[in-house]
Amino acid sequence: MSNDKKTIMSVGQIEISPEARLTPPDYDDLPILAMRDIVLFPGVTFPVSLGREMSVKVATAASEKNIPVGVFCQNFAGTENPGIDDLYELGVVADVIKVLDLPDGSKTAIISARDKVKRIGEGAGKAVPDALSMKVVPVRETNARKGDKEFAALFDEIKATTLNILNKGNEMASDLAFNVESLPDPRMVINLICTHSPFEQYIKEELLECNRIKDRGFKLLAELSRNEEYVELKADIRRRAKQRMDEQQRNAFLQNQYDSLREELYGDDDDAAKLRAKAETKAFPEEVMKVFEKELDKLSRLNPSTPDYSVQYNYLELLTDLPWGVVDPLSTDFAKAREILDSEHFGLEKVKERILEQIAVMMNKPDGKSPILCLVGAPGVGKTSLGKSMAEALGRKYQRVSLGGLHDEAEIRGHRRTYIGAMPGRVIDVVKRAGSANPVILLDEIDKLGKDYKGDPGAALLEVLDPEQNVKFHDNYVDIDFDLSKAMFITTANTLSTVPGPLLDRMEIIEISGYLLEEKIEIALRHLVPRAIGEIGCHDVEFTRDAIAKIVESYTAESGVRQLEKNIASIIRKIIMKKMSGEGEITRVDSDMVKTLLGMEKYTPERYAVDSTPGVATGLAWTAVGGEILFIESVFVGAKAEKLTITGNLGDVMKESAMIALQVVKSRAERYDIASDYFEGHSLHIHVPEGAVPKDGPSAGITLATSIMSAATGRPVKPGIAMTGELTLRGKVLPVGGIKEKILAAKRAGINTVILCSLNRKDIDDIPAEYIDGMTFHYVGNIDEVIEYTLE
Ligand code: ADP
Repeated sequence: MSNDKKTIMSVGQIEISPEARLTPPDYDDLPILAMRDIVLFPGVTFPVSLGREMSVKVATAASEKNIPVGVFCQNFAGTENPGIDDLYELGVVADVIKVLDLPDGSKTAIISARDKVKRIGEGAGKAVPDALSMKVVPVRETNARKGDKEFAALFDEIKATTLNILNKGNEMASDLAFNVESLPDPRMVINLICTHSPFEQYIKEELLECNRIKDRGFKLLAELSRNEEYVELKADIRRRAKQRMDEQQRNAFLQNQYDSLREELYGDDDDAAKLRAKAETKAFPEEVMKVFEKELDKLSRLNPSTPDYSVQYNYLELLTDLPWGVVDPLSTDFAKAREILDSEHFGLEKVKERILEQIAVMMNKPDGKSPILCLVGAPGVGKTSLGKSMAEALGRKYQRVSLGGLHDEAEIRGHRRTYIGAMPGRVIDVVKRAGSANPVILLDEIDKLGKDYKGDPGAALLEVLDPEQNVKFHDNYVDIDFDLSKAMFITTANTLSTVPGPLLDRMEIIEISGYLLEEKIEIALRHLVPRAIGEIGCHDVEFTRDAIAKIVESYTAESGVRQLEKNIASIIRKIIMKKMSGEGEITRVDSDMVKTLLGMEKYTPERYAVDSTPGVATGLAWTAVGGEILFIESVFVGAKAEKLTITGNLGDVMKESAMIALQVVKSRAERYDIASDYFEGHSLHIHVPEGAVPKDGPSAGITLATSIMSAATGRPVKPGIAMTGELTLRGKVLPVGGIKEKILAAKRAGINTVILCSLNRKDIDDIPAEYIDGMTFHYVGNIDEVIEYTLE
């Protein structure tokens, strides 16, 4: 059919081509294949499944006799035996190329459409007997003009939209995509798309009604676009539905996991029931019970997945964990208490006696007020371990709170629960851990309490320690008063100088001095070595006394035994390593072995060297890590005016001591043959090496005076003498502290004579005689005795 022939006849709106008049004879008697919902377009070959018997008959006959059929769509898909009026006016003439028998017994006809036709009346019905037959006329369709740009653009758009729909929604058969892309004839493609389109059949009929391909194209594009939106919407809905499904599945999965974990951890009881059950086993005081019920009620109104819930839960759990009114029965076995203290601590006789005294009092009157003990001494002298033994001796639980560096009041008293991350204070925390309301609580390093803008923990501690106040100790987190009065508090400090005064007033001070070498050896052999071997897990190793002495003298510098303990542990670890690496089993450690295992010596004991220069005197000093010897040098230099210079990093008290000493010497000038104008023509310089080490305290008084006197008189100090004592302006010698450490230092340095105030005699008597074997102590009451005794 060519496009350029003129239209000569019109049937309604339909133009009939010239050829149409030359209707082929079979157009008068066309057997009809009625379609329920398929609209075939000219030129398209399409498989049609044949459901009805009549359809099978018509298709088969047409195929066998090689005659054309009319393919018309029904007005209503549901009509079973359609008559002429049940069909649309427009349809196509088609050839049945083949009828296929499908494996499931149904039949499908491959139908190839030729021209569009309009039915104009009933046919003779001779071609296929009993079948519906019609008389039709062809309806001519006009193709688009060649080079019509608008049509080209339209066509491109149709293709793109179709492909998009195919991609997204699988709304049309997907092999269609291939045809759409590859067929060269736009008309063919448009008709193909129309045939395959998912539109309602009336829309398809409207499409079929378009006689100009371009019109059909426009209408098709409009319908496709609408459909595209719809497909996209559908895809979107599907995606969202899937997402929601995924989310629901995920939530369900997590919930499942959570439930099973929770069940695993707690059993399947719910939290509130569990807390209540726990509370029922406790004898809560009435007030606590009330709060508990109220808070439990709050918990049950919270959503378990919220943070508030866990805050509330933790609080309730703490309430049930606290030992309300629970006290451990006290031991009354005094002999056993003594045994415990003795078995765990060597020496410390006076301290142990003092502690036992306290234990006796407490055992005698169990409901009496516990005193607050404060153990003061250098690190590693056994303060903490004494506290622990004391708890054991009393049959109470032991808990330790380290106060070192603590500067937030809330650490003692807790945060209010409204704070995020609020927690109870350390005191309540240890009471909870102890599980009884009468534990022994060791407050470690009370001298290192800080203080800043976050409050004064010292003040909070006062409340904890004060027996008047701690009956109703109020922790901000717990928010119910807790009775701490049954607990016993022991504090420790390295020095009392930084302990706040009010705290100090409430405590019984027990001083623990450092250990002498001999004591350290005993402690090491009896306690530290066996304990280290047990803890680290080693075969039996014997340490000789020499070995311990070597460690003490060359590898430690301390009053206590902490570094000693560490070094012993280090040696044992090294022994194990040697054994494991096959270098042999060491069973005995002597001083040489110590050197081999620990390597370079860290400290060389300061030795006293005889110095016969006038003006040099040897003093004894106490430091936090033990005693030390100290040299004081004085020189008079000729000068116009009298002047005193003091160097060596001395504190104020020591500088004052130097001025007093000078005054004392001046006042005795005549007695020691010093020219009366000597001091006016000389300036005095006093130096105490080593300049980098700060020194302070009054105990160098007599040493300073001796040094000045020696310089002024030119008489050197006799060798091998050290001294310690405070000096008054009138020349009186006063007693000083730290004697034990000082004597130890003197002995270590090889000094055998020590001058002391006669009131310090009791300190010397406290030292077991065997430790000071070979030393002479010279007790004095005034400076003249010192000078007489020491100067050549
Ligand atoms: P501190 O609290 O005074 O710093 P520790 O109590 O921690 O000291 O003591 C350090 C180590 O030394 C502990 O293992 C302790 O058992 C041990 N120790 C200290 N003094 C003695 C002693 N007299 N007898 C036995 N062991 C001791």
